[in-house]
Amino acid sequence: TMLVAFSFSGIAELWADFMRASGAAERVFELLDRRPAIGAGGEQLTDLRGHVRFRGVHFAYPTRPDVPVLQGLDLELRPGEVVAVVGPSGAGKSTLASLLSRFYDPRAGEVLLDGHPLTALEPEWLRRNIGMVAQEPQLFSCSIADNIRYGRPDATDAQVEEAARAANAHAYIERFPDGYNTQVGERGVQLSGGQKQRVAIARAVLKDPRLLILDEATSALDAESEHLVKDALERLMKGRTTLIIAHRLSTVANADRVLVLDGGAVIQSGTHASLMSQEGLYRRLVERQFVAA
Ligand code: ADP
Ligand code: MG
Repeated sequence: TMLVAFSFSGIAELWADFMRASGAAERVFELLDRRPAIGAGGEQLTDLRGHVRFRGVHFAYPTRPDVPVLQGLDLELRPGEVVAVVGPSGAGKSTLASLLSRFYDPRAGEVLLDGHPLTALEPEWLRRNIGMVAQEPQLFSCSIADNIRYGRPDATDAQVEEAARAANAHAYIERFPDGYNTQVGERGVQLSGGQKQRVAIARAVLKDPRLLILDEATSALDAESEHLVKDALERLMKGRTTLIIAHRLSTVANADRVLVLDGGAVIQSGTHASLMSQEGLYRRLVERQFVAA
């Protein structure tokens, strides 16, 4: 049994390495083929309500055209609704976020915002109306204040601080000797995952977008951060159409609706309770506590 235990942990380690490596490779791919699909031009909507619809969306990444990622996917987010998406790793959850932000266009089908195809809308305008809190937010090598201000470049110092307070970031920022002028990134201080996420939340607060995309952290944040991040996110989501790529049971339990993504399509949808009452992938994911999600 010792031998089995040893070799098992060996495999687990290799697997973890592989997952890390493939994650890194994906990010490189993303940078390489992420080009604003279409240049300037297109409509801006006044009075955006935040109604999102994916209709029969087929998609494969340009670098891997023979690997279908989405295959006839349909989904709808009603204005103000909080929808959690769950599914196995590689199911295409993050791809939904990229299509909604229009870093790519579907190969067939369409994505609509308030009934308008995204292809008819001005990409810059679209992205101004989408707030994104990524799993591992990227901070720039500059001050914390400027990292927050990225959400709205003309924001005053007072507005930056107000956003940081709403994001539960003000207290930790103030504890640095240089406060909001603290340099982060390569040559600056290293922030913890939870601290970075709260900078990203502060950015989104300043941006005040109609649509919000949250890619929940997979790895556990420290207990204090986890509580503060959750609390800040709950406030941020109020009144916005929110798509959460969920890895936690507490998140899906609080969502208005849960979509289960597998094989390039939505295979189940409903509330946490209704999905738990049926046989299916959702219940299996919950039983595994989302470890693979
Ligand atoms: P999830 O977020 O559900 O884990 P993703 O949307 O990241 O899944 O990925 C869906 C599939 O697309 C996976 O097979 C993944 O390897 C692939 N993929 C993701 N990003 C890229 C990319 N930029 N270029 C090529 N393939 C990608
Ligand atoms: Mg993902």
